[in-house]
Amino acid sequence: MAAAPVEYTIGGVKINFPCKAYPSQLAMMNSIIRGLNNGQHCLLESPTGSGKSLALLCSALAWQQAQFVWFLVSAVNSDQSKKSTLSSRLSEKLQASLSNGEQDDDFKIDRKRIRTPSTEQKVPLLIASIPVTLLIGLLSLVIILSFFFSTEQQAKMSQKTVEKSKDSDKDKEGSGRKKIPKIFFGTRTHKQITQIARELKRTLYSTVPMTILSSRDHTCVHPEVVPHANRNERCKELLEAKNGLSCRYYHNVHKMRDQSTLQWVHGLHQAWDIEDLVRLGGKLRSCAYYAARELMQDACIVFCPYNYLLDPLIRESMEINLKEQIVVLDEAHNIEDCARESASYTLNQAQLLLARDELDGMVTHNIRRDQHRPLLAFCCSLANWVKESCNSLEEREYESSCKVWTGAEILGIFHGLGITADTFSLLQKNLAAVLEKEERIGLVNGREDVVQVPTISSNTQSMLKSLFMVLEFLFRQNCRFADDYRVALQQSYMWTTQQDLPDAQGFFARPQRRRQSTRTKTLVHTLSFWCLNPAVAFSDLSGSVRSIVLTSGTLSPMGSFSSELGIKFSIQLEANHVISKSQVWVGTVGAGPQGRKLCATFQHAETFAFQDEVGALLLKVCLTVSQGVLCFLPSYKMLDKLRDRWMNTGLWDKLEERKTVITEPRGGGKGDFDELLQTYYEAIRGTAANNGALLVAVCRGKVSEGLDFTDDNARAVVTIGIPFPNIKDLQVELKMKYNDKHAKSRGLLPGGRWYEIQAYRALNQALGRCIRHRNDWGALILVDDRFRTNPNKYITGLSKWVRQLVRHHDTFTGAMQSLESFSQGQRGAVETFEETQSQAAPQHPSPSTITSPPPEIITPLKPFDHRLAPPNLHTEVRAANSESRSSESGIWLEWRKKNLLYLFNILICVLKEVTVFGDDG
Ligand code: SF4
Repeated sequence: MAAAPVEYTIGGVKINFPCKAYPSQLAMMNSIIRGLNNGQHCLLESPTGSGKSLALLCSALAWQQAQFVWFLVSAVNSDQSKKSTLSSRLSEKLQASLSNGEQDDDFKIDRKRIRTPSTEQKVPLLIASIPVTLLIGLLSLVIILSFFFSTEQQAKMSQKTVEKSKDSDKDKEGSGRKKIPKIFFGTRTHKQITQIARELKRTLYSTVPMTILSSRDHTCVHPEVVPHANRNERCKELLEAKNGLSCRYYHNVHKMRDQSTLQWVHGLHQAWDIEDLVRLGGKLRSCAYYAARELMQDACIVFCPYNYLLDPLIRESMEINLKEQIVVLDEAHNIEDCARESASYTLNQAQLLLARDELDGMVTHNIRRDQHRPLLAFCCSLANWVKESCNSLEEREYESSCKVWTGAEILGIFHGLGITADTFSLLQKNLAAVLEKEERIGLVNGREDVVQVPTISSNTQSMLKSLFMVLEFLFRQNCRFADDYRVALQQSYMWTTQQDLPDAQGFFARPQRRRQSTRTKTLVHTLSFWCLNPAVAFSDLSGSVRSIVLTSGTLSPMGSFSSELGIKFSIQLEANHVISKSQVWVGTVGAGPQGRKLCATFQHAETFAFQDEVGALLLKVCLTVSQGVLCFLPSYKMLDKLRDRWMNTGLWDKLEERKTVITEPRGGGKGDFDELLQTYYEAIRGTAANNGALLVAVCRGKVSEGLDFTDDNARAVVTIGIPFPNIKDLQVELKMKYNDKHAKSRGLLPGGRWYEIQAYRALNQALGRCIRHRNDWGALILVDDRFRTNPNKYITGLSKWVRQLVRHHDTFTGAMQSLESFSQGQRGAVETFEETQSQAAPQHPSPSTITSPPPEIITPLKPFDHRLAPPNLHTEVRAANSESRSSESGIWLEWRKKNLLYLFNILICVLKEVTVFGDDG
């Protein structure tokens, strides 16, 4: 049966939730509303499967809607203010209540959650008093108004609409009109955006104007550009009409650049996915990439990968303005790394030399000579310095050498090269000037014609832009961030692989198993500008954004976020899991089947004894647990070692007898990896003699990040050791030293502690692959004796829900017996449940019943009672819309007439509400 939507009032904001919320969801929503009301930043951990995304979306959008209604009503009131100041006073009270949510917030997790207006409430809060349907109605009112307005305009739209609209948007911003904060919702991958859009569709907020920002790789619809390896490059060429050809899809952007047209004419009236927009773009011959960007102007919520929000270059190119907006970063456990990378850049010597040669060509051919010449001088100086410095590198590892400078040292060197804060600002102007499009009259085939002034290649453009981005950080505010940078010049060898070429007849000379590829070794010099302080990239956000909400299933340990990002997270939450204790088995194991101690430190992991014991342990787990087993190792290096050893000893064959064994590939194409995963899933679904599949993966690898192993896909996760980052990695070494240096003065975590936290976060991330929803179950087996010998150090780093359940097993046999009875118990419970289900509902004997999320979570929203609510605009419009497809022009007028009636209805409701508030006061 479909779950009924439930209305919660938290901090003065009415939140409509598609079902009864879990305590963890209520805790999340409470934290978010408090943060948004007070303009505070939030750090919220809630385990995977606890409905975090739904809580995030509903609370943030409900808060935004509350702002919106307040804005509308205060606008109505301001007209009446001269006649009666009562309602305006009320509006002020409301604003005070929203900005001081903590005082008014009577939200308590343990108390009754569905609130009815109290008679003691002398002055009800405006938001708490307006039915949610009216809120939706108000929002729809604006959509319709803008639609009526925009349809009038559409006829006049020319191909220059995109540019025109940008101007008008700027005008709007400059008019001083109060703006409701947009919600910028960043996730790690595009796949996660799809999942979030699906969640949004389940809520009453599914019709809010939205957009999804994405790259041309995902959104270009031009059939000749799509097969191109570098779509960005090809698109830019077309837009510059270099060969006299332009993109016709770009000139049709106006067909989908408007929120109301998209929703009510083209049928994307509920939360949509990027694929929906691309499909529509193909149908309308309109560019989905630029449409998505244009839709941002009127979107209430903007979804994008989170580097779009952190990276200053992407922000600029996508025209993202975060001032006074809400930024939600989901799956934010890697946000520190991402922020550091956003403010860092690595270029190689070959790129620098290529840029130098291109600029030289521009100067020689007298093309914008005055601007290109200083840039050429810059590249020459830098290239010469790199060449000279290559002679003074120090050996670091086998076949690799380097030299490192601090930010201050590098500024001194640059000063010697004539690159100072003043000359750099001139260089920036020159770069901006040479990137501008320019047309001149020139001779073409002996005749005068308009010609484009040539520009440097897009590779050189992007290299110079990135280099200038880090230099801008280095020179910014009197070199404030210089100490946060280290510049490393490294020499190493790069191996390039060339596959065997087939012979003249198209056959390979060697059989496939023995086929080899030709590897060639090339000397490479790279110059890296590493930002060691994520707060540098965050400084752009923290100063201007209203609230930042960081959330993930695995933020623990949470200690480093405030100090590393330079932001005070006034609101922090570690929510509990929604599963019961009986659904998860968490055990640490310090010894293998032979009784050998298992401690995966470098010295031990190198020994055959350790490798054999781990192999025997894994085999035993595979014999005990049916279906999917995931095993996470600390590094690819260990994965290679274990595989080689197990193949030699025959253990690999034994594992394969029991399960289909797959190892995570290092690098490689996405397609190859997807194929491997498919094999894994098929082995679990299949009825082969072996019982399921074993996936041996690496912490921080593709499998541990963002992949979903629901139900039988992972009934056990085995982690071997503690995945500390590679201590020999130069960047890790520099970061640890940096933290040690600034630990006292800036309150940073000491280097050693920072290093440990990276390990626990990776471990928690791997462990989080297993339990993915409320009815899921599985075992988490942490293999390493250090958990037993030093629990205070190693157990405290685990996520709250894991550390609460962890049990240490003194012997391996004891651990396996306990695991076996857990596994059998869970399977038995499933079978009993399935039997009951099949008796109760013989028409649905699906074995997946128990493993699906609970009905109250996944069922679609119950429609509102029309007797209580204003007419359901969405349903009516959808009906009208489907009619319009069959007979567009005639029905169209009908539809507009119908909606005019709704406009009246909604206006009457608003006026009534305003009158009621006045009476109450
Ligand atoms: S304008 Fe749009 S459709 Fe045309 S090439 Fe560029 S991304 Fe593709």
